Amino acid sequence: MSTKGDKWGFQPEKSNVIVLDRPVAPLYRQLRLKVPSLASCFFCGGCSATCTASEEGMNFRVVHLLLCRGEMEKVGSLIAPCLLCGKCTLVCPRNVDTRSVVFNLKLALHELQ
Ligand code: SF4
Ligand code: SF4
Repeated sequence: MSTKGDKWGFQPEKSNVIVLDRPVAPLYRQLRLKVPSLASCFFCGGCSATCTASEEGMNFRVVHLLLCRGEMEKVGSLIAPCLLCGKCTLVCPRNVDTRSVVFNLKLALHELQ
């Protein structure tokens, strides 16, 4: 006998959609409060293209994506080479204060250690 939800003989997969406007990780929520301009980021990658530390693996766009997803494991090693030079902040078309984001992120991760 079929029950509600399996009348087609299969169950649909639970949605994997990540709603980037709804921060899930507590650390990310704190960052959005400290640097409200982070909410304006639309992941264009302009900051990453100009980053002084890109050859060492720093990539603000990827860091932001990982933060949105709550995947904190790789964030520390990605931001480690950042020199806080602020070049990324100058080129951002949405005026995201990327330098402050990385600075506050470094502080928060240091406090967690
Ligand atoms: S340049 Fe600005 S809007 Fe584009 S990914 Fe970087 S922070 Fe986000
Ligand atoms: S502040 Fe950090 S992320 Fe931004 S350009 Fe400089 S080294 Fe790259």
